[in-house]
Amino acid sequence: MKKNQMAGMICLSLAFFLTTLSLAAQEIEARGYEFLKKAVDQVSERNILASIRALQGFKTRNLLSEQKAVNFGIGAARKWLMKEFQKIPGLEVVDDGYRLPKQGNRIVRDTELHNVVAIKKGRAVSERIIIVNAHYDTIAVSKDRKFHYEDVNTEAPGANDDASGVAAMLEMARIVAPLETEATIHFIAFSGEEQGLVGSTLYARKMKQQGKNVEAVLTMDMISNIKAGNGYIDSTRVRVFSDDPNDSPSRELARYVKRVAEQVYPSFEVNLIYRADRFGRGGDHTPFVQEGYPGIRFTEARENYSIQHTPLDTMENLSVPYCADVTRVVLASLLSLACAPQAPQVTSERGAPLLGRGQGYDADLRWKWEGNRESLAGFKVYMKDTKSSYWERVYFAEQTDSFLLKNVSIDNWTFGVSAIGTNGLESLVSIYRMPPRRRAEYTFEEIK
Ligand SMILES: [Zn+2]
Repeated sequence: MKKNQMAGMICLSLAFFLTTLSLAAQEIEARGYEFLKKAVDQVSERNILASIRALQGFKTRNLLSEQKAVNFGIGAARKWLMKEFQKIPGLEVVDDGYRLPKQGNRIVRDTELHNVVAIKKGRAVSERIIIVNAHYDTIAVSKDRKFHYEDVNTEAPGANDDASGVAAMLEMARIVAPLETEATIHFIAFSGEEQGLVGSTLYARKMKQQGKNVEAVLTMDMISNIKAGNGYIDSTRVRVFSDDPNDSPSRELARYVKRVAEQVYPSFEVNLIYRADRFGRGGDHTPFVQEGYPGIRFTEARENYSIQHTPLDTMENLSVPYCADVTRVVLASLLSLACAPQAPQVTSERGAPLLGRGQGYDADLRWKWEGNRESLAGFKVYMKDTKSSYWERVYFAEQTDSFLLKNVSIDNWTFGVSAIGTNGLESLVSIYRMPPRRRAEYTFEEIK
């Protein structure tokens, strides 16, 4: 056999090897998407409609509104929510209550605040938590079109803001509850959002103080309006807001959502907005991001400012089919995260990235992964230009804990690694990031 013939054969068998490898990986991934698709197909517009109608029926859900009435005000809404969650087998329902003294210019008197939490336990031995949330409180301007925080019984139906998010969350809870997940899911209806993200701030702090491992926070706030006040209509996209920088865990969570959701539900587009939230406005994901957890916000593509926070925010002015589409997007993301293996750890105990230069000019990626190897298909190594919005190259790394990219500069690229389960579902991509450099302190005396 001639030398070049031999080389040809090696090339051929290598090509064959790579093809079979990617075929196996593809088959495994197809398994994952089938599973997610089945769940997404269960989303019911009727259920969503019924929930929005019920919540709107309480007339107002202002934090400071009536607590004791049976069918009016925030107290009645909370009791209804608790009951709805309790109807779903497999959820532990918790009344997460706080006493708040009068403070600031929005909490104008002493009050109680109750987040409604429904917990679906995961199987993972060391607890992983995913938080999916919306806020059930509302607010509306008074007759003079201004906010008066002491005017607590003004009609504030909040069908879009944010009964739509709560309805989506209830629907997801119904679909996810009977399934086996690795991660524990906290379905949370927050209160006091309109007074300054109060409920989510208290819960985020609690998670941090208890040292909880919150892997992802998915906030849905206003997910059913399709027509803007200027006449523009968009019913085929949802916006997902994530905070800078481009290699932050929140940004990576947003990329994950786009990749998974558009694959599972291709008729709908996830429009990533590379910004913490809308201009000058906030949401319940932010307190979690401030505690160091990855968090993103889902919001309709087109807002109608003349309806928001007014008595006009009712069923007549929103689209339930659109709300169901957004529900499908969030559900696919949530379920994929919850059933995927835990993400690899790419830092040392002291927080240094496990990324080296190999023989001097290579990218030498290492990671730690301590889950159950039997349900692990392998790892994926990702790479992109530092300026790129999305991952550009991906390599399948099988059951190893390192990967070498020869002559690839670690200075000029961003790298990440994920874990893929035998069920075809992929973890978040863990990104290799350099911790910020601390300012050096020197002893000196200036020469005058
Ligand atoms: Zn809202």
